[in-house]
Amino acid sequence: MTVNDQNRFQAIISHAKEYGFVFPSSEIYDGLSAVYDYGPWGSELKKNIRESWWNAMTRMHDNIVGIDAAIFMHPTTWKASGHVDNFSDPMIDNKDSKKRYRVDHLIEGAAEELSKSGKQQEADDLLRQMDEGLAANDFTELKNLIDRNGIKCSVSNTCNWTDVRQFNLMFSTQLGSVAEDANEIYLRPETAQGIFVNFLNVQKTARMKIPFGIAQVGKAFRNEIVARQFIFRMREFEQMEMQYFIRPGSQKEWYEYWKTERMKWHTAMGIPSENYRFHDHVKLAHYADAAVDIEYAFPIGWKEVEGIHSRTDFDLKNHQQFSGKKQQYFDPEVNQSHVPYVIETSIGLDRMFLLVLCHAYQEEKWTKEDGNEDSRVVLKIPPAIAPIKLAVLPLLKKEGLPEIAREIMASCRNEFYCFYEEKDTIGKRYRRMDALGTPFCVTVDHQTKEDRTVTIRYRDTMKQERISMEGLAAFIRSKF
Ligand code: ATP
Repeated sequence: MTVNDQNRFQAIISHAKEYGFVFPSSEIYDGLSAVYDYGPWGSELKKNIRESWWNAMTRMHDNIVGIDAAIFMHPTTWKASGHVDNFSDPMIDNKDSKKRYRVDHLIEGAAEELSKSGKQQEADDLLRQMDEGLAANDFTELKNLIDRNGIKCSVSNTCNWTDVRQFNLMFSTQLGSVAEDANEIYLRPETAQGIFVNFLNVQKTARMKIPFGIAQVGKAFRNEIVARQFIFRMREFEQMEMQYFIRPGSQKEWYEYWKTERMKWHTAMGIPSENYRFHDHVKLAHYADAAVDIEYAFPIGWKEVEGIHSRTDFDLKNHQQFSGKKQQYFDPEVNQSHVPYVIETSIGLDRMFLLVLCHAYQEEKWTKEDGNEDSRVVLKIPPAIAPIKLAVLPLLKKEGLPEIAREIMASCRNEFYCFYEEKDTIGKRYRRMDALGTPFCVTVDHQTKEDRTVTIRYRDTMKQERISMEGLAAFIRSKF
């Protein structure tokens, strides 16, 4: 585990691009800030992570069903949810460089500098005063704090600051073709609201009894101000969220249950538990009565990958009020109606993808039997989510070997993603498959023609052994 290793982070970003995992969006036009495209192996890996989450949530729980709601929602949704009024960060602009900063990031940066130069007490005081200012929403005090401490813009190196202002993170657009009649609507900043507004539709049609959950995976959009950490913080990203509707008063118990369940999912993926930790929120979001982040030791530090929030009845109650439609559940066990409470689990698919890459990326060096040095870059992606599960490699492009390799492809490709390659030496092909994270390669050689055995090579250990071609698909499957 290496926390805070910028070189490693840069190496992972380069690898992701070079091997077709993640590209900057519209790169031929120099890209679009904090927007990314997934390439052939990236889209496959992302799909596998999505499926793993989806199956863990829906198939593995009798009482959780999925939906797929639209990105556009009625604009009142975002008034009811509190996003129009509250989904904003305090910002400040430097008048000389025109660079905009999130106030907390600017002050935290200054505190870090103080701490680096041995002034820990001053750093702690600064952060404490910032927390007080943020908690009280006291923008004048925050501005004064920046002035008093002479905090400078890193670009212009001046203290010529605007006032602190709120900046809403939602993207807006127009619905309707005629400009004058068009309504302003938002691109959803979270998928959760699509679940809340469908709560009764789902409860009735899927005949659900409380407690029950609704899961969803979909795009969300935030006009993030500070967006320069690759796919960690994007302006367009995908969330995997589940809202669990419960009886009021049972939220503590279910909150603990989901904390445990979600951590189990992470470690069941094959990612070591020591790289994870819980981080309780001190300053709660406007909708929550308890909240915790699951953090991972990224090369850019311990960072949130998932949030678990006890959202009370905040959302359903507000939707009830703004829509005038009852959002209640009749609980036959206690013979009364109530607005359910909600525990939410919310994980960023792109952030989970980055986590998997950070876990998997290894640069290995060793001394060979002949005394020479050798090295490789390998992605030790857990086999169950690896983009390619099996590479089928004929040793030669002739003498009937490709035909046998094709036969193996035909018998396995229905079951999992297989990749056929006959170019280059076998050593080079193995290295390429290591770099793509392919856990198994099989090589077809002349002996295969005689006894229908192949050489299987394991990515992580680089060990090779001969196994029978028959039953190969089942054998590989048993490994994940
Ligand atoms: P952060 O504090 O990092 O901005 P958040 O607390 O605002 O995140 P939530 O609103 O709880 O995040 O969203 C749930 C999850 O969605 C996060 O844990 C994260 O994995 C993901 N997520 C949120 N914002 C982004 C983003 N801009 N890019 C990628 N993933 C994101």
